[in-house]
Amino acid sequence: VKGVKYTVVQTPRGAKDILPREAYVKSRLEQRAAAYLESWGYARVYTPTFEFFDAIAQGDGPVLADSLYRFVDRDGAALALRPDMTIPIARMVATRYQPEDMPLRLYYVGNVFRYAEPQAGRYREFTQVGVELIGAAGPRADAEVVAVAAGVLESLGLASFRLDLGHVGYLRGLVEAVPDGRVGDGLKEALLRRDYIRYEALVNQCGLDASRRQALLALPRLRGKGDVLEEARRLARGSRAALEALDNLSAIYELVTLYGLEERVGIDLAMTKDIDYYSGLLIEGYAPELGFTLGSGGRYDTLVGRFGQDFAATGFAFGVERAMLVLDRLGVTEAGPPPPQLLLIADDRCQAQLLSFAAALRRRGVLVEVDVQGLSSEEALAYARRRGIAQVARVVGEEAGTPLVEVAAAAAPPAGDGAAGVFRRVRADRLLGA
Ligand code: AMP
Repeated sequence: VKGVKYTVVQTPRGAKDILPREAYVKSRLEQRAAAYLESWGYARVYTPTFEFFDAIAQGDGPVLADSLYRFVDRDGAALALRPDMTIPIARMVATRYQPEDMPLRLYYVGNVFRYAEPQAGRYREFTQVGVELIGAAGPRADAEVVAVAAGVLESLGLASFRLDLGHVGYLRGLVEAVPDGRVGDGLKEALLRRDYIRYEALVNQCGLDASRRQALLALPRLRGKGDVLEEARRLARGSRAALEALDNLSAIYELVTLYGLEERVGIDLAMTKDIDYYSGLLIEGYAPELGFTLGSGGRYDTLVGRFGQDFAATGFAFGVERAMLVLDRLGVTEAGPPPPQLLLIADDRCQAQLLSFAAALRRRGVLVEVDVQGLSSEEALAYARRRGIAQVARVVGEEAGTPLVEVAAAAAPPAGDGAAGVFRRVRADRLLGA
């Protein structure tokens, strides 16, 4: 084990603090996404941040396992921070739901943890928003997930994104005649790294007949719109499994066009994933502003079954930090939290009136900050200007149960309607919006 040099005032590599401006943008984005997903009938779930290591390992092969944060708790149990939300939800569904509960539409907003080489847009703790549609096997379910994915990204203002669809069964079908399973893994690995030179070399060595070799060599070019599916069909004539995968993908794509998404959605038959629970459709979301994927998903019909009860399932997730990066680069990021509208000050004698007046204002929906430092009027005006608070209100007494209030604009109003910094008596009920 290498020692890591650090100081206690740093955050660990790949983890970060989120200050109010960014936190406001992030939480607004998450809320908007949640409202959108609820409009399709998806219900939010939470799962534990950590799971038994074996549960995660059950869910995925070497790749996620390799990037796991593992630890041992005081009882000696081997635990891991969740590297995604799909595996915990699969465990939850297998153990908590029955066939009559299907189909199940679930969504989540949650932090996941992976050892990754940190850079802009790549963290070791990050937030995913995603949906899982469980207990529905056909192409309609997959098409819904594609449409939900497109819809939620659109609802966030991510104007430039695209979704690509692929299928694990196409490559798998083409290489099924090779007895050595490592050949298929090698091809997948080369595609994943976009190492086409190695890919070609592997195809030429793998001992398949000429027509399959030709189909495999064409694979990296099979990207585009629906006509790609036709070309793939011609190339895959000899492989029943590959043709079945194409039938399934064509059915999904056709439904996706019914959602009016042909501009957004393309086909990429060379798509492969490092996560190995996928069993059918593959989805990847991109934005030109981003060097990595924006979101990803697909069908995973065998994952839930690994936890004891078989359910077909399909889903999609996107990274919140990456969505924020795209919005930033598109120049459409919103400002931070709005400043309070009013700063209330009062001397010691009038604290009771100040506090009850502040409470009344808040009940009316006015954003109010109460001075806790004993600022003078001048200091309060300067502070309000610095913070972008429009007005300072001074509570100076009470008359027949109504507070006596004097108000000054912190900065000169643009219309020239009165100077800044001049306190005037106003009726409390006017401030209350009555
Ligand atoms: P995955 O579960 O690997 O398919 O990733 C799904 C989505 O999560 C990606 O498309 C990204 O938006 C996001 N994501 C994955 N890894 C990271 C990371 N290291 N940092 C930030 N976001 C990530």
